[in-house]
Amino acid sequence: MPEKPKTPDPVDIPAALTTGTLTWSEKKFPSAVYPAHLKDNSTQSRRLEALDLVKSINEQSKSQLYHQADLGTKSSALGGVSVQPHLLDGERTQRRIFYIRGKGCTWARANGGGCLMCGHVSGMDTQDCVSMADYIEGFREAFFSYDYSDTKVVAIYNGGSLLSSSEIPTAVRHELLQTVASNEDVEMVIFESLPELVTRKSIASVREAVGNKRLQIGVGFESVNDDIRLFCVNKRNTLSDYINAFTVMREFEVEALAYCLMKPVFLDEQTAIDDCVRSVKFAFEHGVKSVSIEPVSVQDNTTVARLNEANLYRSPWTWSLFEVIRQTHFLGDVRAGGFELYPPPREYVHNCPNCDEKCYQALREYNATGKTSHFDDIDCNCKLAWRRELEDRHQDDLVDRILSQLHSVAETPDQSHGSGHQVLFRDHIDANDLALLIDATDRWDQFLDKVFVTPTAENMSADILEQISLEDTEHYLDVKIQLSRCLRTVESAALKQKFEDMCGRIRKATLHHISTTLPQLVDNSRSVKEFEQKDDRKHIDSLMLEHKQLESEFIRQQSEIKSQIARLIKEVRRNFY
Ligand code: SF4
Ligand SMILES: [Zn+2]
Repeated sequence: MPEKPKTPDPVDIPAALTTGTLTWSEKKFPSAVYPAHLKDNSTQSRRLEALDLVKSINEQSKSQLYHQADLGTKSSALGGVSVQPHLLDGERTQRRIFYIRGKGCTWARANGGGCLMCGHVSGMDTQDCVSMADYIEGFREAFFSYDYSDTKVVAIYNGGSLLSSSEIPTAVRHELLQTVASNEDVEMVIFESLPELVTRKSIASVREAVGNKRLQIGVGFESVNDDIRLFCVNKRNTLSDYINAFTVMREFEVEALAYCLMKPVFLDEQTAIDDCVRSVKFAFEHGVKSVSIEPVSVQDNTTVARLNEANLYRSPWTWSLFEVIRQTHFLGDVRAGGFELYPPPREYVHNCPNCDEKCYQALREYNATGKTSHFDDIDCNCKLAWRRELEDRHQDDLVDRILSQLHSVAETPDQSHGSGHQVLFRDHIDANDLALLIDATDRWDQFLDKVFVTPTAENMSADILEQISLEDTEHYLDVKIQLSRCLRTVESAALKQKFEDMCGRIRKATLHHISTTLPQLVDNSRSVKEFEQKDDRKHIDSLMLEHKQLESEFIRQQSEIKSQIARLIKEVRRNFY
């Protein structure tokens, strides 16, 4: 068996990134300003602790990836071929994509390296079984089997950097590029690279291989925000690395393509939208020719998959992707990416099963025409759930959140390897059913708001208490019915039980509140009134003390009930959307 490719040395983290002195980036690149709520107040030791944890969880996931890659050892040079619509200078054409099984991304193989969402290495030739001749012959055979009269763009993706000779031998790279460049119909060649491998020497060499053809090199820019790129993606590149790469490309008339990641882990939906929009703007401001927005998918055996299993991560909503495109498409060539992954992910950007196919078709149309009007005619009840998620902003510090989420992942067994790639989505529920459940819980919540007004003896007779109790029962039954309706398409008995238990716990709490705490409070107020009339200070004082305790219990219960109701909906959405 040939030796495994050598694992590169650990990559140092630039000091400015570990200390959290964000002014470093801000000073150098004034447009890289940070949203106020992402300003980091944590100490350097806390940041290093978070980075260590990111690295350690990611190393565990990577060992599974390598295990899977080794199991799937094959000598084929190609992992697959696909075709996508492509808009080239406003003209509709196609992009044919060849997935080459390289030796695995240089960054993924580095000690502590590898992006948190990336499972590409599991489809690569990590056992070094593919020879130079296999690569060249395999590629040529596939390339020449297609007609390119309506395909002006060819992409060669190797699950890493084509510019890395440890991933693809230099002679092979040269041969592949020359093969594509020899076709008269093809106008543009695209491949990908880490920014640090974009040097004058490497770019001069690929420029020579493709001759006069247009060449575009995609780099994973991910985010304009240093902390998001570092903690939420596990990339150690600084903004300077990207600016340098873009500058070198310009010198050789190579077009820069920036991949901007949408919704890396640990971010809420709205922050993810805002960050992606800022990243796209920054890329265009710094000379990038095209941007591909990459909504994060869930590939098996990745840190993202582990967070997803722990219900701490959901791929972005397609509504969010529409939003980012709407806010950026007029800045330049903006594509919707994220579907050309190898191996295929188990979860992509999605809304709900009722509108997913329409949305994907609209994205294909957008990629082919550049017109966002394709998004305008789509509507679905799940938009309500998306809007609520946008309002659900994280309030805690990013570093604290990372530590807490990863500690919780570290304590749960790793189930992220799944059973293959057949499962695209988990159990799902109908969007209409979810909307009805949300309405029912809203009605219960609003009714309880009325009950939660601190009662006095005057406004609470026994009849009113009975009426409140009856109404509470009705609202509980209404929610219970809507919940059962929602769960009818769910197969997992454990999940069904979990939500029925949650609903039961809310009811138990409201019942106790209405039948015990509330009458006690009413009785107590009544007694206080009686003693006030008798001017009995001694009894009034002791009753007032009791009253205060009852009131604080009343307030504690109401906030607990309200948060349980909110949690029920949040958990339903997390599990099924
Ligand atoms: S996303 Fe790109 S750079 Fe990151 S590990 Fe995967 S192949 Fe490497
Ligand atoms: Zn929908």
